[in-house]
Amino acid sequence: MNTSMNDLAWLADSTVHDLIQRFPLPIALLDDAGGALVLNDRFGRNYAPETLASAPLQDLMRNPVPGWHTVRVPNLGQGEVEIKAQVLSVQGTPMLILDDATDPGLLRELDQLHGQITELERISSTDRLTGAWNRHHLDRVVAAELDRSIRSRQPVSLVLFDIDHFKLVNDTYGHQTGDSVLCELVKVIGGAIRSVDTLFRWGGEEFVVLASSTGYRAGTTLAEKLRGKVAQHGFAGVGRVTISLGVAEHIATESAEIWFGRVDQALYRAKNGGRNRTCVDEHGSSDIWAGESGPSVIRLVWQEAYECGEPAIDREHRELFELANALLDASFKSESAPEVFGAALQKLLAHIVQHFAHEEALLARHGYEQLEPHRRAHAGLLARAGELKAAVEAGKTTLGDLVDFLATTVVAQHLFKADKEYFPLFKK
Ligand code: GH3
Ligand code: MG
Ligand code: MG
Repeated sequence: MNTSMNDLAWLADSTVHDLIQRFPLPIALLDDAGGALVLNDRFGRNYAPETLASAPLQDLMRNPVPGWHTVRVPNLGQGEVEIKAQVLSVQGTPMLILDDATDPGLLRELDQLHGQITELERISSTDRLTGAWNRHHLDRVVAAELDRSIRSRQPVSLVLFDIDHFKLVNDTYGHQTGDSVLCELVKVIGGAIRSVDTLFRWGGEEFVVLASSTGYRAGTTLAEKLRGKVAQHGFAGVGRVTISLGVAEHIATESAEIWFGRVDQALYRAKNGGRNRTCVDEHGSSDIWAGESGPSVIRLVWQEAYECGEPAIDREHRELFELANALLDASFKSESAPEVFGAALQKLLAHIVQHFAHEEALLARHGYEQLEPHRRAHAGLLARAGELKAAVEAGKTTLGDLVDFLATTVVAQHLFKADKEYFPLFKK
């Protein structure tokens, strides 16, 4: 899910684009670094890039206090000029407006522009038929929610559901009645979820609830509650309607796509299992987080740039990150819960061995020229891991050394250095 692109979808609307371009005051839409994303005609005519880069404007963009501010900025070879500036946030994108005219009529137009953009934002985020949030809005919310979940170590779950035999409702009662069922369903569900949970229309007769601070167990309870509410509701002109539901909690290292794939699979199982039921994917970071005595300081954070483009290798690399994190977490309690630590250690070691073998086979299949040195690097790492493990068992070194070697040297550094060298093989 590419959020920055979705964030700017409203800008692609030609009405907004024209409005900004033709607006009689200089407008700059800014990227995260305070650079120009879009400059309107007037900005381009009256100011140079150095105006945008000037300290007073950059300060204002970083600390956007509402309202107009008087600033002195360099201007196209005329030295410094004094102008008014303000920063508005439009769908999360900062918009800098310079007031280089003193016409009060323009300020009214500016208010109008902001109003129009806000309205456009709302329309572009909701589903016309049911009034639920739409998928475009979901993409944006998900990105922010995952960020929050990982930072605060609070789980987040998806409940995906689909009306059972809805085609039959349409065929029997007509499409219009079908439409009313969809609207009524949104009311029933909307009345049953917490205010922090959000309901989105995923498409057709499929909806999704994004449940904050909810692991897969609480997510299942929520899903069953929703299933019950719908099953008990009398739908006007139709009577009983049932839904099937899938539940999946996010795993801290996985992408949103993979998460949605898991919840889709769970829903698929609910349908295949006979409908009017909930199926859950019993994985999630909450199990690891719940076992912690406190937040650990050291964690590996997966970045998109670590993906080589070969799906099996990327999946295994992500798994190794997750397992290394689990080991780091467990190592904080290795004395109070040695069996948890032992299990985490065994699991990571086994996955490393398996992954190395699998990676070598894939690289051989792709004719990787540096396979031999890479194989030797793997063998060296495994040998060192074995030595360290033996040394820990003999009381000659600390668990911390072993954990650090596995998480940092084997998982993080090897991927970053040695593995990076074969990435071009798959990046085509
Ligand atoms: P299942 O239990 O397997 O989900 O069966 P189903 O009949 O619900 O599933 P299927 O995917 O075969 O049919 C979905 C139907 O939903 C077909 C489509 O016409 C209908 N549908 C999708 N969007 C709308 C809509 O906006 N309004 C109406 N009335 N029907 C819709
Ligand atoms: Mg259906
Ligand atoms: Mg469907």
